[in-house]
Amino acid sequence: MTLFDHFRRPLKDLRISVTDHCNYRCLYCMPLDDYVWFEKEELLTFEELTRVANVFVRLGVESIRLTGGEPLVRKDLHKLVQQLSTLQGLKDLSLTTNGALLAEKAGALKAAGLRRISISLDTLKPERFREITKKGNLEEVLAGIAAAQHAGFRPIKINTVIMRGVNDDEILDLADFARAQGLIIRFIEYMDVGNVTAWSLEKTVTKKEILQAIQSRYPVIETGRNANRAPAIEYHFEDGGKMGVIGSVTEPFCSTCSRARLTADGKMVTCLFATNGFDLKSMVRSGCSDEELTQTIIAVWSARVDRYSEQRWAAIASGAGYSPQNQKKIEMITLGG
Ligand code: SAM
Ligand code: SF4
Ligand code: SF4
Repeated sequence: MTLFDHFRRPLKDLRISVTDHCNYRCLYCMPLDDYVWFEKEELLTFEELTRVANVFVRLGVESIRLTGGEPLVRKDLHKLVQQLSTLQGLKDLSLTTNGALLAEKAGALKAAGLRRISISLDTLKPERFREITKKGNLEEVLAGIAAAQHAGFRPIKINTVIMRGVNDDEILDLADFARAQGLIIRFIEYMDVGNVTAWSLEKTVTKKEILQAIQSRYPVIETGRNANRAPAIEYHFEDGGKMGVIGSVTEPFCSTCSRARLTADGKMVTCLFATNGFDLKSMVRSGCSDEELTQTIIAVWSARVDRYSEQRWAAIASGAGYSPQNQKKIEMITLGG
């Protein structure tokens, strides 16, 4: 079956934040000291997650991405992968990670049935890497990429957030690195996620600027969005290989957004910029039936009217002005980037 929201957008993808905890403190993502971390008991167990995910799949979800926070800090994540990989009707199971723990975990994840991996990497300079992530070590991530390749993940995608004045001088170096390693790099416009990341429009390097930088060295041919609903617009290098750009700010794609999110504490959220979600965990823990879960998800998705990025861009383009501080959002580590 296919479930449609108020604007006839189908529910096809589910992002699950398996934990809000993270071993990095990236400057564009991580809330500061006022954030209250979830206790272990507040997180959905693997069994609860699998049960809820199964209901989503029966409602038409084809792909699940595990994310966070940093998903690999959740103990034994491969066991969740194993459980999810048996869901009837699920076509794609993937993971987004900062890569720090991947060297030790890539093999087990592959064996458990994980299909695809995206690894975040914003710079090839060790000192800059430490400045962006606060706690990270570039060597570990490079080792994680190598381990994922060795484990047989193909293709591996690299997620790169470009911030003006931080790493916009590395667009070509990062593209060269990805091309040399056979990785698909996706450049992401810096967004105003969460509440305390000091975003401003000036710091967003636009999709157009990113493409100009790439095309100064490599001719590329645009091939569109995967399945017409992926966030990235893909490009083929004329001499082989692919890359993508996610223009979340300047070219919003809300009209094709088919993603629901499950927060680390079990809330169903229908937009990355949402201010609240529907508490499925309470339902699950008070003994509801699968049918009750199904009807709740149908009701939440059917009523969905989210189009935050389109509204933000309309406000910016009209000159009316836009201030992210006006909106108290759920933090990205809670709801899964
Ligand atoms: N910890 C994992 C990681 O970093 O890959 C998974 C969670 S992270 C929230 C998911 C993705 O969101 C990462 O690729 C990260 O670069 C991206 N992201 C975080 N904050 C962002 C922001 N302000 N703008 C654009 N992308 C952002
Ligand atoms: Fe952690 Fe990923 Fe956010 Fe960085 S982007 S702070 S690694 S959750
Ligand atoms: Fe989807 Fe919300 Fe992002 Fe628009 S702003 S693409 S509705 S998550």
